[in-house]
Amino acid sequence: MSYLSSETKQFDTHCHLDLYQNPADVVCSLRQEAVQTVAVTNTPSVFPRTERKARGNSLVWPALGLHPELAVERRGELPLFAEYLEKTRWVGEVGLDYAVSETRDQRIQRRVFDRILELCAQSGDKILTIHSRRAARDVVEAIGSDFPGKAILHWYSGSLTVLEQAVEYGFYFSVNPAMASSERFSPLVKRIPRERILTESDGPFVKVHGRAATPRDTCHVLGTLSSAWNEPVNQVGERLLENLRSLLGDSR
Ligand code: MN
Repeated sequence: MSYLSSETKQFDTHCHLDLYQNPADVVCSLRQEAVQTVAVTNTPSVFPRTERKARGNSLVWPALGLHPELAVERRGELPLFAEYLEKTRWVGEVGLDYAVSETRDQRIQRRVFDRILELCAQSGDKILTIHSRRAARDVVEAIGSDFPGKAILHWYSGSLTVLEQAVEYGFYFSVNPAMASSERFSPLVKRIPRERILTESDGPFVKVHGRAATPRDTCHVLGTLSSAWNEPVNQVGERLLENLRSLLGDSR
């Protein structure tokens, strides 16, 4: 579990495999390019299905999630979250989203997220892939500097000040093709240490050439990083794999 094969060429730390029209086709395509993929889920009740499908497929790591946009409606599933947590090291999609909700809903989201963080802290070595739309400051503050696990801010779109705080706390950042091609990315990428960057697709929500991005599309992020870092693409690829290895390996 969570062991990275030496064959791995690319990886995706945030993909909604269960939400594609044909998940089986996407899973098949992982084999061709050896793309290690974290299959996030949006509620605890759908996790067992993803977990079952991932058994026997070393390229898929299932993640247990409770998406902030569903936190109000599905907070009754927190006991299920607690029950399934021992089945995986990966947690996501979790976090906060202040774009869509009222203050009351934000407070509920925060309570749900705090409980998730508490449960994860008790287990010790969880890796979280975290949503933080319009809530970056609260997300970073909620996790804090001494969280006993790893935090990956997925599709970060907050301020540079909060980003620097997150860097100081040791968090990682996962970048998808839509994020890498946006103008907002260039100031962000300058402030994130190279050893803290990972790749994600956030498929099927992110689109590439008008179709749903798949884990293989993480290759599109490499070109942007290659220009930003002035490093050859293959060297960027190696560096990113090294980042994933260190994320998996060194427990703080
Ligand atoms: Mn997502």
